[in-house]
Amino acid sequence: PSTRTRLSFEAAMQRLGGGVISVAEAKTASSVVKGESLPDTIRTIAQYADAIVLRHSEIGAAQVAAKASHVPIFNAGDGAGEHPTQALLDLYTIRGEKKTIDGLRVALVGDLKNGRTVHSLARALSNFKVEFSFVAPAALSMPIDVSDYLRARHFIVEETNDLARCLQKADVVYMTRVQKERFTDLDVYERVKHAYIITPEIMKRLNKDAILMHPFPRVGEIATEVDSDARAVYLTRQI
Ligand code: ASP
Repeated sequence: PSTRTRLSFEAAMQRLGGGVISVAEAKTASSVVKGESLPDTIRTIAQYADAIVLRHSEIGAAQVAAKASHVPIFNAGDGAGEHPTQALLDLYTIRGEKKTIDGLRVALVGDLKNGRTVHSLARALSNFKVEFSFVAPAALSMPIDVSDYLRARHFIVEETNDLARCLQKADVVYMTRVQKERFTDLDVYERVKHAYIITPEIMKRLNKDAILMHPFPRVGEIATEVDSDARAVYLTRQI
């Protein structure tokens, strides 16, 4: 499933004068249903397109596709793996709002285990001088490969479940949705789904110059009353 990524790629290509052909619902309405492999599907699509934007439910799918394709593959989200183009957009938003990325303290909050946007954003931010706070319940903490990657590059990485304390020192707070579709046991999901909810009351703890981001969709983790707060930048348009 995709709303923003799909429409932003399609809109961008059309605005740049290109065209778009698509296989929506590939899982149910393409030859994938008949058992066609990803490499075969990709080889076929590559006959018709100059570049392929792939959203896939499995980690590593874009890598598999890239090996099979003679045209460029854009990873538009591979399961709980990565979402690199969202990370580019997030860097763009941070720089637009804060004028710089260096020197900022960035708090990534919520489902850090399953959220592909935070995996890619953390790695993308490692190109800058930032400090990280990873705020998650223990069951949803950041995969060790991502935190090890940052620590090996000498970044300060604080891991905590204490959102209130992090808000006081963060310059950027990046909220995420608990990824229901990644849970095999929905009881576990029910227990953690509202681990953190940003309300106007909670926003009082956030610095006046900080920004609140979210890749969307949100499913309750940011109250709509927060939308009118000048620090909430998830629905504003960058210039
Ligand atoms: N839209 C983002 C993604 O595709 C975030 C999310 O689904 O929670 O990863």
